[in-house]
Amino acid sequence: MLDITISGGTVVTPSGARIMDVHISGDTIAAVTLPGAEGFTAGQTIDATGMVVAPGGIEPHAHIGGPRQPERSGAEPVSRAAIFGGTTTVLDFATQVPGHDLLHAVDEAAERWKGQGYTDYAYHPMFGNRASETDIGQIPELVQSGIPSFKIFTTSIRPPSPQMEDRRTDFGRLGSIMERVATSGGMLLVHSEDDEMVHYNYERAEAEGHYEWWHMNEVHSRESEDVSFRRVTRLAELKSCPVYFVHISAIEGIQEVARARSLGMPVYGETLHNYACFSAANYREENGMKYHTYPSLKDESDGQAMWQGLLDGTLSTVATDLVSTTWEEKIKFKTVADVTGGHNGIETRVGIAYTEGVAKRGMSLERFVEITSSNAARIFGMYPQKGAIAPGSDADITIIDPSIKRKLTLDDLHLEDYSIWEGWDIEGWPVTTLLRGKVVVEKGQLLGSPGDGQFLKRSISTAVTSRPAC
Ligand SMILES: [Zn+2]
Repeated sequence: MLDITISGGTVVTPSGARIMDVHISGDTIAAVTLPGAEGFTAGQTIDATGMVVAPGGIEPHAHIGGPRQPERSGAEPVSRAAIFGGTTTVLDFATQVPGHDLLHAVDEAAERWKGQGYTDYAYHPMFGNRASETDIGQIPELVQSGIPSFKIFTTSIRPPSPQMEDRRTDFGRLGSIMERVATSGGMLLVHSEDDEMVHYNYERAEAEGHYEWWHMNEVHSRESEDVSFRRVTRLAELKSCPVYFVHISAIEGIQEVARARSLGMPVYGETLHNYACFSAANYREENGMKYHTYPSLKDESDGQAMWQGLLDGTLSTVATDLVSTTWEEKIKFKTVADVTGGHNGIETRVGIAYTEGVAKRGMSLERFVEITSSNAARIFGMYPQKGAIAPGSDADITIIDPSIKRKLTLDDLHLEDYSIWEGWDIEGWPVTTLLRGKVVVEKGQLLGSPGDGQFLKRSISTAVTSRPAC
């Protein structure tokens, strides 16, 4: 006998969305059948009539707090908010720290998540400044051990300060890293801004008296994204390295991703739901630094271009760039040199993508699933274990109620004491979440526990690393 049947919902499968039943046995999906098909009896039936049944969301970009960043929320509260929001897998970072290698970073990340995850999880090792040959030489070993995605920064982001560690990778090292990632079958995540332009812009902003936070888009400018993206794609072309651009913030970034993909290069673009919905004009509000995530919000037209890119396939994923802090921490710093970045909206990502994509812009359910789940699964080597409602896949499912239509309030959410989405008009929202066959949130009630989450070993398909596959 089966454990659970989810009946009568519009199920988004790899071959399209239609009314189907999803049958679950243990951790995985046993079958997807026409409604009421005979021979399928389950211990529990979840009536999903009128609902959308989608693969659990995959958050590709979250910075979870640990002993080194006590001001940030840790794996337990973040993954709890994630499952309330229909996200069942969280990709964190394993951050290299001075004096230690990437393997140590991976151990620290594992320690942070141990027994703390309501979701499944994995991490992208993140290089520190001036990676050594030994560090770079660890790439193949990590890929082999199921950790095949790595992150670098092309800028130190902010002027030197005690709170800001310089993680810039110079283009010499970047070439070496790309070679190793390419030959090992990995994926390189790049925070791409032109370091020289950013730091000159800081000097100029200071000289001109433009140091308040709302000038952030003058410092972390569209020109910097434009120039840096082109430099990174050129080096990636020389090294045959697949690249995933994190948090694209400007039309220029989208255009460069489109250009590279049109040449057949394995280049992927991520944007953030907050980047797509807000603009630099919001910085001007009282405490408008609450909207800030590095690099910076740009113009309203950039946000519209992001929705267009998500709709037409130029952009592959929508992420959060999660850094969750308290309100006090978020508004503590007020200049372009020290504003707290990151977004505590891991819970809103799937629902906002549904509201803004499907309900307001006519995005297909299939495309909605690609940007919130299946593309991240493919790009980071989890597909079809994750990101698919298909026989044999993990039974990670989010059930969305499309009839929900109201204003979102902080009371709806489960992470920290503020939300930039307060008062946002939503249409459709996740109500029930299953993780590997276990109902972890049902109609707004938490049934999961922090030991549910498992570490995911990953392996990226050559289809993804050799050409734009999704
Ligand atoms: Zn980030």
